[in-house]
Amino acid sequence: MSEPPKPTTWAVEAGRRPEWTQNHEGTGGIVNPPVWRASTILYPTIADMDAANHKQDETLFYGRKGTPTTWALREALTGLEPGAAGSMLYPSGVAAIAGAILTVAKPGAHILLPDSAYDPTTAMGQGLLKRLGIAAEPYDPLIGAGIETLFRPETALVLLESPGSLTFEVQDVPAITAAARARSIPTLLDNTWAAGIHFKGIAAGCDMVVQALTKYVGGHSDVMMGAVSATAPLFARLRSTAWALGQCVSGDEAALALRGFRTLPLRMARHEASALKIAHWLKAHPLVDRVLHPALPDCPGHAIWKRDFTGSSGLFGLVLKHGSRADAARFCDDLQHFGIGFSWGGYESLCIPTSPEAIRRLNTFRPSGLSLRLSIGLEDPDDLIADLSAALDRMKDLA
Ligand SMILES: *Cc1c(COP(=O)(O)O)cnc(C)c1O
Repeated sequence: MSEPPKPTTWAVEAGRRPEWTQNHEGTGGIVNPPVWRASTILYPTIADMDAANHKQDETLFYGRKGTPTTWALREALTGLEPGAAGSMLYPSGVAAIAGAILTVAKPGAHILLPDSAYDPTTAMGQGLLKRLGIAAEPYDPLIGAGIETLFRPETALVLLESPGSLTFEVQDVPAITAAARARSIPTLLDNTWAAGIHFKGIAAGCDMVVQALTKYVGGHSDVMMGAVSATAPLFARLRSTAWALGQCVSGDEAALALRGFRTLPLRMARHEASALKIAHWLKAHPLVDRVLHPALPDCPGHAIWKRDFTGSSGLFGLVLKHGSRADAARFCDDLQHFGIGFSWGGYESLCIPTSPEAIRRLNTFRPSGLSLRLSIGLEDPDDLIADLSAALDRMKDLA
């Protein structure tokens, strides 16, 4: 056996099965799986229809169950998480999180959510899940093995997100998953920040890993999609839950996500290098209090990041010494290269003010001044530094 291919090679080759790209004679084929648009599938005979009904997955049955375009993307994503048995696609990252939670939680269940979770995940706990009789309890993202003190007989899931949204706490994923496994409690990791490139969630002991493909996998700010990859014991339940909820994506969008996938490791390398350069420059600036970048010592859980991650991405937080949310326009409005907007992971840089202290229930995050989140895109980092330098100059007289 030869060595397994390196990430850039693998990203180019993943999900390109000949049966999805070749002509019927097998004498020629195209590079990409074509964009299949489908609702009805036509069968030559009733026997063929019955056979398809029996199989259902990765065979043409009905549009909702997918086509070679979506199967190719699913296969590629499963390969991103060694140890996963399969992956399902959802129309957004939030839909993927809901699909994963509803795979294991039922009325009366208790689930644990990190206090640093993506805001809509927290809101799902306080809204939809509460209505379904599922109690979502926040926990300190830095709790590590201490998570076991929060387990109850009815605990059905531990959610993890590392690093956390806005405040970037890096979690001790292996310690938390080991504690949960000892009690047979499934775990779900939101691995969007690392894009499945810099951290392997299933290998770290998680049962399910979710990614908002909207971010780095899509990479071009033109597609909404989410995915969940799961280990063998859970994959069949994940899939039947997704099917029961009617979750599916179009071939057009799956093709966009697959296109992004081909260049994912390359783009991640550039996001990482530029973001590190900018983060270090910011850290040395006299008006900057803290840079919440997992690769910098200011970041809570930095030592765990060093132990567990193979790299970093382009998204990090910035806390100024002075100013407040009310001064955000002064910093952001005149930026030349950064857009003001939600989402992240696209080729273009973004900057938004953040107020994590307003949405957290346990967190003691008390920024000294204006708090911001930067998504570093593929522009030249020196242009971005010049832009941030001018923005910081505009904040000088708040000192
Ligand atoms: C954006 C995001 C999501 C949700 O993805 P959508 O496709 O926008 O629904 C989930 N988790 C994290 C960490 C995110 O940043």
